[in-house]
Amino acid sequence: MDPIVMAVAPEPERRGMNSLGVAHLAVFNGPGKPFEFRSLPLPEPAAGEVLVAVSLATLCGSDLHTFDGRRQEPTPCVLGHEAVGRVIAVGEGRDPALIGQRVTWTLADSCGGCRPCLDWELPQKCERLFKYGHAPMGSGTGFNGCYASHIVLRAGTTVIPLPDSVTDAMAAPANCALATMVAATEPLTTGGDTVVIQGAGLLGLYGGALLKEAGWRRVLVVDRNPARLAFVPRFGGEPLTCSEAEALPSGSADAVIEATGSPMVVPEAIRLLRPGGHYALVGMVHPDSHLDLTGEAIIRKCLTLRGTHNYAPRHLRMAVAFLTQHAARYPWASLVSPPLPLQELGPAFAVAHQGLWPRVSVSPWTSSSGTFSRS
Ligand SMILES: [Zn+2]
Ligand SMILES: [Zn+2]
Repeated sequence: MDPIVMAVAPEPERRGMNSLGVAHLAVFNGPGKPFEFRSLPLPEPAAGEVLVAVSLATLCGSDLHTFDGRRQEPTPCVLGHEAVGRVIAVGEGRDPALIGQRVTWTLADSCGGCRPCLDWELPQKCERLFKYGHAPMGSGTGFNGCYASHIVLRAGTTVIPLPDSVTDAMAAPANCALATMVAATEPLTTGGDTVVIQGAGLLGLYGGALLKEAGWRRVLVVDRNPARLAFVPRFGGEPLTCSEAEALPSGSADAVIEATGSPMVVPEAIRLLRPGGHYALVGMVHPDSHLDLTGEAIIRKCLTLRGTHNYAPRHLRMAVAFLTQHAARYPWASLVSPPLPLQELGPAFAVAHQGLWPRVSVSPWTSSSGTFSRS
């Protein structure tokens, strides 16, 4: 069984915010360097801003890539963009009723006035885009990431209250993985016969539940890792090994979703798709993704290929509504590890690399041997 000893998290709301008015941040100074823990005075939110006490944050694949040095981020910075928290204070122009509410928020802050925002329905491609967990300390308030006791949300960020039935563990990955899959599966919500999801990571598992509830008769989820496949039936899908997928007849899928991050799976998807099929590309968000396919294959089969990167605020609203509607139907919380203390963020990355959970979580309110200094 898992050798990692997990601390038990007290309810963050019972603890309330830090009584000294101090925020704690786990600062990333580059791959291979230990996290530096800084304590800073809590900032007053400026106009449009929202100060949130982070209850729970999860380690996303992109955080792992940055930690490993496979993705470059400006440093020093506070990583982490998947989280849930409670609103502590709001700046002018924000609804004061938000104060005290448990919330999730869009991982991208957008201006609302440029062409991607106004004309293209792609606020995640805003000309003045800001993404939490990817910005240097020197940008804005510096409270830009979720591996911290507090985060300051900017004026162009959509903040969505959560019902009590959507727990912290259920909600933490909603503002990245789930909302992204809501966006990727949006053209497929009319349902159909057979959809194949390539990859049983968190994206694939969320995709399985979303498509099953959208009315797809068969949701086949392919992965080469048996431990990942074990989650699939609990989230509406039928698990399939790679060799089982290879045995599927050509043209047997109405739609395929790439959620592996590997370009190697693309020829198999093209083979499986029926004429007029839809291929949703979600996972390969890295430059090592040259595709082995011909234009002829796409044209002769009349295929639609659609890429999805992040999402618009409506997709996060849909994600929260989906979790609320199906809170009891799927074991959402089993996708997230018990929280490790934020002070153990370095070891949390090591746990994430073991792959025992689709997401490993950290909480600034969970204590262990290395509690924050109260001096
Ligand atoms: Zn993420
Ligand atoms: Zn914009």
